[in-house]
Formats: sequence, structure tokens, C-alpha cells
Amino acid sequence: MSTYTPMMQQYLQVKADYKDAFLFFRLGDFYEMFFEDALKAAKELEITLTGRDGGGERIPMCGVPYHSAENYIKQLVEKGYKIAICEQVEDPKHAKGVVRREVVQLITPGTVMEGAMLEENENNFLASISELDGETYALSYADLTTGETSASYLGTDFHSLIGELYHRPVKEIVLSETIAAEKQEHLVEQLNCTISFEERTEVPDEENKLVEELEEDLIPVFGRLYNYIKRTQKRAMDHLQPVQFIEIDQYMKLDMYSKKNLELTETLMKKGKNGSLFSVIDATVTAMGARLLKKWVDRPLLNEDSIVERQSIVQGFMDNFLYRDEFREDLTSVYDLERLAGRVAYGNINAKDLIQLKQSLQKIPYILSLLSHIDVPAVQTFVQRMDPLTELESLLDKGIHEEARITIKEGNIIKDGYSDSLDEYRDAQINGKKWIAELEQQEKERTGIKSLKIKYNKVFGYFIEVTRANLTHVPKRYDRKQTLTNAERFITPELKEKETVILEAEEKSIDLEYELFLEIREQVKGYVNKIQRLAKDISELDVLQGFSFIAENNGYEKPSFSSRRTVDLKNSRHPVVERVMKDDFVPNDIYMDESTNIFLITGPNMSGKSTYMRQMALTSIMAQIGSFVPCEKATLPIFDQIFTRIGAADDLISGQSTFMVEMLEANNAIQHATNRSMILFDEIGRGTSTYDGMALAQSIVEYIHENIKAKTLFSTHYHELTTLDKELLSLKNVHVRAEEIEGRVVFLHQIKDGAADKSYGIHVAELAELPKNVISRAQKLLDQFEAGDSPNDDRQLTLFEPEKIVTEAPGDTSSTLLEEELSRLQLMEMTPMEAMNELYRLQKMV
Ligand code: ADP
Repeated sequence: MSTYTPMMQQYLQVKADYKDAFLFFRLGDFYEMFFEDALKAAKELEITLTGRDGGGERIPMCGVPYHSAENYIKQLVEKGYKIAICEQVEDPKHAKGVVRREVVQLITPGTVMEGAMLEENENNFLASISELDGETYALSYADLTTGETSASYLGTDFHSLIGELYHRPVKEIVLSETIAAEKQEHLVEQLNCTISFEERTEVPDEENKLVEELEEDLIPVFGRLYNYIKRTQKRAMDHLQPVQFIEIDQYMKLDMYSKKNLELTETLMKKGKNGSLFSVIDATVTAMGARLLKKWVDRPLLNEDSIVERQSIVQGFMDNFLYRDEFREDLTSVYDLERLAGRVAYGNINAKDLIQLKQSLQKIPYILSLLSHIDVPAVQTFVQRMDPLTELESLLDKGIHEEARITIKEGNIIKDGYSDSLDEYRDAQINGKKWIAELEQQEKERTGIKSLKIKYNKVFGYFIEVTRANLTHVPKRYDRKQTLTNAERFITPELKEKETVILEAEEKSIDLEYELFLEIREQVKGYVNKIQRLAKDISELDVLQGFSFIAENNGYEKPSFSSRRTVDLKNSRHPVVERVMKDDFVPNDIYMDESTNIFLITGPNMSGKSTYMRQMALTSIMAQIGSFVPCEKATLPIFDQIFTRIGAADDLISGQSTFMVEMLEANNAIQHATNRSMILFDEIGRGTSTYDGMALAQSIVEYIHENIKAKTLFSTHYHELTTLDKELLSLKNVHVRAEEIEGRVVFLHQIKDGAADKSYGIHVAELAELPKNVISRAQKLLDQFEAGDSPNDDRQLTLFEPEKIVTEAPGDTSSTLLEEELSRLQLMEMTPMEAMNELYRLQKMV
């Protein structure tokens, strides 16, 4: 090490503390990287790799300019890397030896604050997980850009933990190193996020206000997050809001599989938002609204009163759509108050941001007057609660210049009239400049030099410039300063005197402006909580006006809720598929009364079975977030959980066999569903050989029927299962209709009562013109199947009529049976008539 230059030694010392991050080492106008970091960064950022000699070797090196660093940092953060920013922390002029450098911030995917690195419509969550008593999981979230924080218990099941985190914009998870390695891997794999470690979990006394609402044993999970944020950000975290305790039980639970399969916020194939439920029901106007809607979709409510309250607001907006449309219009000029508040508190807000804040606040009184026309109690609660923060608005209006610059140290920020001293300095500058203009005029007249000019530059300040041709007219009072090819420059004592006044005033006014700006910023800080509250109300109203807008445009109706577990959807549609199909979507009823829990759905492939199933789930989710639903009339129970097993395209990618995935998902449902849940099973068992699959499918249906009693839609290829309705009284058969029209099979996508016609497949084969004897042989086999025989495969008997396998013996089955029966006859005890009857029966067996 000692063979390296002192600066390299310093680098290596700092780097030792930040092994898992890129170290951006500030040298002049560049951030430099060395060794491994340089090799990796050159590749990731596609920048030139150079090197410098040191320690008897060539040290790989690359760098990015300080001014454009943000862009490079963004690229790295997006790839999940961390970046340690190492700055010079003393003035090089005063440094003895190497300038002192320190890491001033560790930027990680979960802690970025800068605008360009953030997705506008998405939260940027950092999460921490703890295992309480080594069993129960606890989870805490923070979004540094908005300051929101929360904590919750998550039970003992690692899968529900993943389900909770899945599809949330969680960029980074902070853990203890003691969490099992396989669980860590699982998190990375399933959630595609960065993992970081933090062992400190205590929250210092001075931050008690953050955790006041929290139960004692949840404090450490937030503490882990808190300490990590503090360690990486190295500054005060004033804008963190008190940690909100989230009772997970108050929300509908959706496991990871269901969130994925139902494509709530992302589609399966493209991983994009288009085609997700979110994309269809999002008519928010603000980024804050869009972020909130995403949270709502992830957390449908269970409390009927809260849902009904949201509905009443949606209805209010529909009944007053003219006011609503004006409200929408006005919201477009409200900026992202949530993030602005975050930046105010974080201390990196500039004058432009403050202008945005002001302009947003200026809209509020008008918005409130619009809303006051909507005669709905819940809306009026908002109106009364929302504080337009007039004092703050007028402070900003008086203080901050409309066209203020982003840089806060170059003046031109504070408005005239805000500060007397500032006005005096400005007057001095203006008067001084006026005086100089007058002087120029006077000197022209006094010397007779028409082209005489008074100019200014940074080196000489103000000076008088005379062209070469006029030099003879220059009076003695002028003091020569500089000679140019075509002109000479002079100064006079009075000019210099004025210059001092002007420059002093300028310098003072810039300093004063900066001071005043900091003062205003500090005052704004006092409003952070109020701005956050206002932002929250606006985002909520934005989501709800969006629901009313969508309901109107897409023809949705307000659902009502049944405590009797009745599902009654009239002419229900799939919210996403109907958007793609426009007019051609065929609506269907879904009616399951209290005594019907399971629909066994049969019908050909591509007829619309899984669409029908999904639409029930999506409709329920929409209903429970307060949205209206794609139906003519809807009554639903409030579902506590939704479980799905629907064939998914990405099963193959995940590396597990489809069948294993199927069984894992089925198991998850069976273990956790209650009679208030919904289960969607699409062709369970199809992933294995027919008889295995059918047996499993049947026993799963039976289990749900007997033990769970959840509302279940179960689609199947196994026609044999349709007879289950005889024994399972709350199971009903339904099928998707197909018709032959002019010799072609047409799917009508209509769901009808009863089982599908079994010979349907053979019919299709006939239409496809398979050879006649293939068709007739198939028909014959089918007749035999239907008669209960199984000519080619008696494994079916082993599964469904277990009592018969006992008698299975080698040799000719019928003769063995005959022998057995004969020997069992008690001839001496029989009447002749009985013997006659028995003989007749035995003869029939031959
Ligand atoms: P299955 O599950 O029976 O194989 P899907 O539900 O996947 O069939 O539907 C297949 C296709 O049929 C869908 O992609 C959709 O285009 C169309 N479809 C399904 N349901 C309807 C409907 N109710 N109205 C119109 N088209 C539908």
C-alpha cells in the first residue's frame, strides 16, 4: 500500500468501507473510479477506460464529469448498484498534503432523491424486514421522496411476505445478515431488488415522535430502516412522517401468484403497465393520484363503510360531472406536492420548486369552491379539512421571483419589495448604472468623441474606451489602463468610486438574497406536514374523480355488498378484455347464491373460461377499492382473499415445472382460504398424466367443498368431474356454449347452466373431416366411457372405484370372479327359486 501515492492511499482507505458500492472519488471537475470499479463502470456506462501508474502497476481508471454525474448515477442505480459519493471536504487552499475527502452520501436504489432518477408516477420504496422472535415477520416501508413511512406485522408465512412486497415499487430491501441465505436469494429472485444490510435497529430518543404510534416490538423493524437511511444519507431526516401502523388484516390479501396472474398493475408477458387493471381504471390527473391508485389496487379494502364512503364520492362526481371536469382541468396545474414537500424537508429545494409550490397552492381555493358544489357529506369533509395554506402562499408570492433561477447563489430570486435592504442595494445598483450612462453622455460632450463608450468587464471593472483615431482628444484626467489594437481603455477616479458602490451593492444583494432564500426555505419547512396532508387529500380526490370519469366512459355501475355471500353480477364484463374488443365482448351473468359455492366450468379451449373467471376476481377487486364495476348490476360479498391458479406463460421461465407451480399455488390457496375467500382454479391437474390430474382435481374440489366453502370457479377438461354435482350439493355445473353455424364451430362466449356436451370434441373432429372410421370408433369408445366401462385403461377404476382393486387377480377376470361367486353359494340354505335366480345371474357374467 505504501508504494501508492498518498492520494491513492486515501482512495483505498475510503474504498475499504464501501466495498459493495461504486466509489465516485472527486478529483477537480471529475468523479474518478479506480481498479475494479473502473473496469466495471467502463463497461456498464460505456465510458473510456484509461489508467495511471502507481504502486509499480498500471491502475485502471475512468471518470465522469461532475456536471453530468447525475445521469451516470441514474444508469447505475437503475441497474441496482449503489454509489458512494466522495467529496473534498476542505478547501484545497488550506489543505496540508492531500485534501481531506469523505463520503457524503451513499446513493442506493431505494434512497435516490434527485428528480431525474425517479419515476414520476411511482413510489420509490425502501423496505426493511425483521424476524420477530425468529418467527413472525415484520415489515417497514419508507419513501424518501415523499417522507411516508409505515410498519406492519406479516404473520409467519414467508410466501405472504413475498406476496405483500410483490409488484410494489420496492427498489431495495434492508435486512439483517442473520436472515437465512436462501430467503435472501428468494427475495432477490422474486422481487428483483437490491439487498442491503443494517444491524442497528434502535431509534434514538430524539426521534421518538416518529414511532409514537407504533407497538413496542415493531420499533426495531423501522429502526433498521432508519439507521440505514441515516448511514447512507448522512443528514437530518426531518421529513420522515410518523410511522403509520398498517394492519394488514384490514385489506384484501392477494398472494404473489394472484397479483401476477390477474395482471393488476403489470402484465405477465410484457411486464408493462398497458393491459393491466391499473391501466384501465387510471384516469388520475396528478402523479400523486397515480401513485395512490397503485397502492389502492394493491390493497383493496375489507371495511364496507370505508368502501361505501369512497363510492359516495365517486357518485357525487358523476352527478356533478361539469364541476368534476373543471376540477380535473384545475388539477393539471397542481404540481407534485408530495415530492415538493419531501424536497423542502430534505433541504434540496430550489426557487423554481417554490414557485411550483406557490402556483399549486393558488389553485386550492378555486378547487375548494368547485368541490363545495358537490353535495355529498364525504366530499364536504374534504372541503372543510383541506387547508389552502394562504399564509404560505402569500409568503412565496411576496418573496420569490416568478422567473427565479434554479441556482440559488446567483441572485434574481427574491422579489422587489420583500426586503428594504435588498431594495436599497438594488436601487444603488440601478442608480449607479444610470449615473454611468449619464457620465458617458457627459464625457462624449466634454471631449467631443462621439464613439466614446463606458464598458464593463470582470478584470478591470468599468472603464472608458476610446478608439485609436480619437486618442488625441483624450483629456489628461483619464488614466490609461490598457491598450488594444484599435482602442485604448481609461479610468477616472470618479468612475472607480461609483464602481465600488455598484459592485458592493451587487455583492451584498446577492449575499442577502441567498440569506433571504434560506430564511424563506426554513419557514416553508414549518409547513411540510400541512403540505403533506393537503397532498394526501388531493391525491385521494384525484383517484376518486378518476373512478367517476372511467365509470362514465366505460359504462360501469356501482356495486352493492351482500353479507349473505351472494354473488350476483348481471351482464358482467372483463374490464381489460372488453377494452381491447370494443363492441364484441359478450357479457355474462355470474350468480352464486348462498348455497352455491363452486362453479365447475367446462367447455372447449379458447371459449372464454379463464376470461370469465378473471372477470369475477377483477370485478371484486374494483368493487373493494371503491370503483364502480363493468356490470349492469352487481352484488358481491366482501372477499377477504383471492387465490388463483391460472395457467401463466412465465411458469416456464421460473425454472419450476408447471405442475409443481400448479401444486404450490393450489396448496397456498387450500392452506389459507376461508369461506369469505375467492378461489379461481383453471384446469388444475392438467400438468400431469390424465388420471393423476383428474384424481387430484376431484379431491381438491371435494376438499374445497367440504372444508373451505370459498366461492370457487373451477374450470376443467375432465368431463368425468361433472357428475360431482350429484353428491356435492353446493357445486353447480356451468359450461361455455359453442355452436355450429354453417358447418363451422363458433364460440359464443356465453356461459350456460349445466355441463358441456361431451361429444362436442368428436363433433369438432368431424367438422375437421377426420376419416369416418376414426370418428365412429371415437363415438363407440365414448359410449363405452359413458356407460361406465373403461376398455383401454383400468387405472381409472383404481382411482374412482377403489373397492374393486382388491379383487384384481391374474388370469381371466370374469372366470375367476365366477369361480369365487360359485364357491361362495350356500346351496343348502336356498330355496329352489333363489337358486334358479342366482344361476341366471351367474350365467350372465360369462
Ligand atoms: P379459455 O380459458 O376457455 O381457453 P379464454 O378465456 O382464454 O379461453 O378466452 C379466449 C379468447 O376468447 C380471449 O382471448 C378473448 O379474445 C375471447 N373471449 C373470451 N371471453 C369472451 C367474451 N365474453 N366475449 C368475447 N370474447 C371473449
